[in-house]
Amino acid sequence: MTTINWLEAWTAEDGARRVDELFTRSFDGSPEGVWSAPGRVNLIGEHTDYNAGLCLPTALPHRTYIALRPRDDDHVRLVSAQAEGMWEARLSDIAPGAARGWGAYVAGVAWALDQAGHKVGGFDAAVDSCVPFGAGLSSSAALEAAVAVALDAVAGLGLAASDAGRAELVDATRRAENEIAGAPTGGLDQSASLRCREGHALLLDFKPGLDPLESGVPVPFDLATAGLTLLVVDTKAEHDHVSGEYGARRASCEQAAELLGLDSLRDIAPTLGGMGIERALAELEAHDPDGVLRRRVRHVVSEIDRTARFADLVREGRAADVGPFMLASHASLRDDYEVSCRELDLVVDTAMASGALGARMTGGGFGGSAIALVHLSDVDAVSQAVADAFADAGLTAPAFLLAPPSAPAA
Ligand code: ADP
Ligand code: MG
Repeated sequence: MTTINWLEAWTAEDGARRVDELFTRSFDGSPEGVWSAPGRVNLIGEHTDYNAGLCLPTALPHRTYIALRPRDDDHVRLVSAQAEGMWEARLSDIAPGAARGWGAYVAGVAWALDQAGHKVGGFDAAVDSCVPFGAGLSSSAALEAAVAVALDAVAGLGLAASDAGRAELVDATRRAENEIAGAPTGGLDQSASLRCREGHALLLDFKPGLDPLESGVPVPFDLATAGLTLLVVDTKAEHDHVSGEYGARRASCEQAAELLGLDSLRDIAPTLGGMGIERALAELEAHDPDGVLRRRVRHVVSEIDRTARFADLVREGRAADVGPFMLASHASLRDDYEVSCRELDLVVDTAMASGALGARMTGGGFGGSAIALVHLSDVDAVSQAVADAFADAGLTAPAFLLAPPSAPAA
């Protein structure tokens, strides 16, 4: 029997103690405070954020902690338990293309807040995290969101106090990731980390220009009462060319929208009053000899539809019925969008064969994590089956997390 590698979430006290100690060891004196922000798991709605579509994330109990103290000058000094040495820069030197390394995610938030007209100065900060890196669980957004609420507090901006203010912090953290860290992600991760609520999933609508009340709607998501839990499996799989593949998918979506004369693929989705998939596919046929564009479009549009229907079921308290939507989402990502991989498929197939109600890859794909909806009484059997299947296939041992819908950045 293979051993199961469980990744426990730290308690808030433990996280705070860790960064407080790291701060004191690295800089003189104490931090002004400690803030933290969660990683996220997306229940459904994959590769829809940059198509102005719908996603449905929850916040993980696993969080990134930051101890921070403002400075009188514009220097930024950073240490992380997950990185070597000290990262240093002057805020005045931060600009698109100019910042290197992990500090870009941090200094980028200060840069983006400044761009939005908020006065933030330099700071010293220490970071530590129990969100796994590069596992598709958004350690990058957890870091950015932790920085955002920390700077919001020390600069007295007051944005974290309201959902509308948090939507502004989402813009800043997303710009940090896109423009300073150079990762062209679509905003799902930052929205989840800053705007999810405990016990809820967050139905995100990426239509441009929506006010915060429309763009992010909390939906009560009570798995425990139904005797269910969400099991997350970090496959530890890392594949080459991930960012190139992501860029290629985005480009295909933009190309298809342009050929159809639409602002985005959202305008096809029937659930959102769009033109309908059959007509869109027929119109694309002449421009799409190999069928690739049509497969990409079919994924995005069907995924938006599945996300809306999944959210309706959750709203009706029927979380136990969402399994088929998870499976359909996975098949669509595997066959039409072509972003799954052997490890993700293995988790899904094994979890389903050992009693899960539904399972799918989550996050961008090509490695990262998969989720399974399982009865509490089946958690051990499902995780054991997945761990054994990976061992039998000679793959790196995966890590397992439980993901009750948790609290946002604070
Ligand atoms: P994911 O967000 O899925 O975990 P990404 O590649 O988007 O993966 O982000 C991971 C990157 O974010 C790391 O390579 C590192 O640069 C940065 N990062 C995230 N968390 C930390 C941390 N605790 N300390 C230092 N850097 C971090
Ligand atoms: Mg990320």
